[in-house]
Amino acid sequence: MGYGDIFLTVLGGGQEIGANSYLLEWGKHNIILDAGLDPRSSGYGALPSLDVLYNKKIHAIIITHAHLDHIGSLPIIFANYLYLGAKIFITKPNVKLIPHMLMESVKGIERDLIPEDDRYYYHQLFDRDVLKHVKKSFSAHEYNTSFEVCPGINAQFFPAGHILGSAGIVLSDDNYVFVYTGDINNKDQTIHSGCQLPNLNHVDTLLIESTHGSSSVGPEFDHEAERVRFAQEIQKTVERGGHTLIPCFGLGRTQDIVVMLSEMKKEGLISQDVPVYYHFGVTAGVNRIYNMFPNHIKNKKDADIDSLCTGFNGYGDNGSFKSVVDSYPEPSIFVLTSGMLARGTPAAHVAKELVKSDKHGIFFVGYAAPGELGYELINVQPGQSVCFDIEQQHWVEVVCSHIEKFAFSAHSYKHELLSIAAQLNPRMAIWVHGDRNSTMKLAEEYAQHHDAISIAPGNRDTIMLRAGTKKIHTHLAHCRAVIVTVGTSFITNYTKRTGCTISGQDIDITEGNLIGFIRDNFASIPSLSAETNCLSKIQLLSSDFLYFVCGDSPEGNLCGSLLEQIYRDHYRCSLVTIDGLRPDEKAFNEKGARNLIEGIADIINRHGGNAIIHATGGFKAQIALATLLGILFKNKVYYLFEDFTDIVCLPQIPMDFDYQSFLAHGDVFFKLLDGREYWSSDDIFNKLPESLQTCFYKDNMQQKYILSPLGRGMYDSLQRYITRKSKSIPITVQGESSLWGAERDSLRKILNPMIGIIIERMNHFSELIKEYEFSSIGLSGGTPAGRVGEDYLEFIKKTNQSLTYYVHHAASRKNLIDILTIHTRPGTSEYVLKMIGKRVYP
Ligand SMILES: [Zn+2]
Ligand SMILES: [Zn+2]
Repeated sequence: MGYGDIFLTVLGGGQEIGANSYLLEWGKHNIILDAGLDPRSSGYGALPSLDVLYNKKIHAIIITHAHLDHIGSLPIIFANYLYLGAKIFITKPNVKLIPHMLMESVKGIERDLIPEDDRYYYHQLFDRDVLKHVKKSFSAHEYNTSFEVCPGINAQFFPAGHILGSAGIVLSDDNYVFVYTGDINNKDQTIHSGCQLPNLNHVDTLLIESTHGSSSVGPEFDHEAERVRFAQEIQKTVERGGHTLIPCFGLGRTQDIVVMLSEMKKEGLISQDVPVYYHFGVTAGVNRIYNMFPNHIKNKKDADIDSLCTGFNGYGDNGSFKSVVDSYPEPSIFVLTSGMLARGTPAAHVAKELVKSDKHGIFFVGYAAPGELGYELINVQPGQSVCFDIEQQHWVEVVCSHIEKFAFSAHSYKHELLSIAAQLNPRMAIWVHGDRNSTMKLAEEYAQHHDAISIAPGNRDTIMLRAGTKKIHTHLAHCRAVIVTVGTSFITNYTKRTGCTISGQDIDITEGNLIGFIRDNFASIPSLSAETNCLSKIQLLSSDFLYFVCGDSPEGNLCGSLLEQIYRDHYRCSLVTIDGLRPDEKAFNEKGARNLIEGIADIINRHGGNAIIHATGGFKAQIALATLLGILFKNKVYYLFEDFTDIVCLPQIPMDFDYQSFLAHGDVFFKLLDGREYWSSDDIFNKLPESLQTCFYKDNMQQKYILSPLGRGMYDSLQRYITRKSKSIPITVQGESSLWGAERDSLRKILNPMIGIIIERMNHFSELIKEYEFSSIGLSGGTPAGRVGEDYLEFIKKTNQSLTYYVHHAASRKNLIDILTIHTRPGTSEYVLKMIGKRVYP
């Protein structure tokens, strides 16, 4: 496909912290920016929307830094989508950090691997072997040196000031400059210097993080005073004889805090002899890597982090977690993962013990997302309880009143993010990697003060960055695609009118000739070609996006490019060259037909189905295929026959595809599509009825089944069918004491409007969902919940025909928790789970 344009698609990190990953389609090159996992989900649900990459090969991956929310899905993208021999571009320290962090995550997965757990899936696609190959594909670069990522696309890393080796990247070709910040921090930390923004005359697009977009820390904030307050709180805890827990991310934050504590000791702010412990897992290896890159550290003499603290091993011989009160001298300081206090991590184990006494202190130094244990502890009042283990319903009453939050983030705060954007001064600012509120607010605020487009796209949104027009494009789903199949009637008409003949190879037709011809006959443009004629007969909207879909012969391409030049002053246009599309049966059968269907399906999908097709130009097979797609996608297809004076809108044929049989075999179909059981994929394939087998073909290079062009069309239209046909789903309730009360049979009666919003969204899949069933379970103990947080659903388990979620209520309730079971059609639960997600917020 020959777009000269640049498209950005958000795979993860759109209006969420999420699994950061962005697809940049730059001309013919597909580049992935970061390949993260969502830290708040597990297994399949934690991956970015990789199905968008369906059928695409990736030419380059650029990684900004080694946090798992930026690299966690790297092995999967690497193994499934990267061109053989393509490179992963990183900074030097990441050569060491990325394999270390990925290996730790594999170990974690292997440790608690349960076959039914869907982390199993992740494990299958990603094991230690893949890492070897990942390492071989690294292409490491220094900051501020230029290198080529794809032919014609240059890149340069700049220091992002977030952690060791963290970078932002500038990508550019001859006339376009794109900047991605990764995670960025513009102020110095203890051992990390702040970012150094590149000096650029001009930036077209800036893709910028928004983690702290909602923070209340303003320009007046005094960092030194915060540091002193932190030291004082620790020292008070030491004087009370209690332990101090500082939950930290293992990479970056821990090293910075450890050095900060050692400086505080030297300055006499904290007692010299208090031991400091770090978690002897991920952190030990990271410390070693920090020591290997002293030049990347602000204060080189403090580089030997290991000498400043002692490894902490919380697990006893029997594998259970040891009591820190019993096993460590009081007072001690523990710098442990995870930073958000995720349940089950060493920090959470220690916190569970420390919250029970008022002499201890727990001090947060980074971001904690709503829904995380860390967020709950920060907001809890002494006397209330917090749930440390959801499955076991283990609630602990919080006695400790010394739970504090300090502003030492490794990210920029809201006003700093805005000033970074202002400094780079892009024509378009795209805000990502922050919750919905943060990204939207930043986008809005930036737009108010700058003459720039400023947006906060969601996941799967595609934004057009550059087109061959003067207009700037944003969300494509908001405008209609007018897809025009292009033939060579420009040339035919030119030869007819000028009397010039085409003999053999000697084509006396150049672009200049044709442009001259168009200029001379400008008043009668509609009559110059089948395509212009056809377009003149329908009402085009100023917001329309015109796609000229032409073959790869020189004549076809020339005609497409002429059309683009005629229309581009008034409409947004794009020239789409289809590989193998030419009047040559071999090329057409082998490549052209498939590429044409994919090319058109791709456009229709980019525009969220909002498209019409003009199938007048081009040779007959081209027109037939375009018509078929129009029917599949339920888009209007226009046709103008030479002798007709008026245009024909092909009637919607009164037939539909047999979706019921599709759904009846849903389990097999989705299983094959999922690719999870790739080792038995031939058996799965053979179980499909013959008519559905045409939807797949086996890709020998990838050794797996993927959708055929027809299958893709069927699948997309099936999804539309599933999501459009919303009907009401019965709701049953068991247990009268549920928050829902008895006999909740309709959505309107659901008392919690936030959960109602979630259920309403699920109704999009009403074709697949049979029933919602609410029940409540009583809890022993009788401690009031009193937790602070949000209303949301949390996935528990899945069977072949059901999904079960916990219903979390922000409001406090006694002894009760709601369970929602979603009964699905047999075999579709996996698919529904994928669509709904593991944690669902309103
Ligand atoms: Zn990060
Ligand atoms: Zn991040």
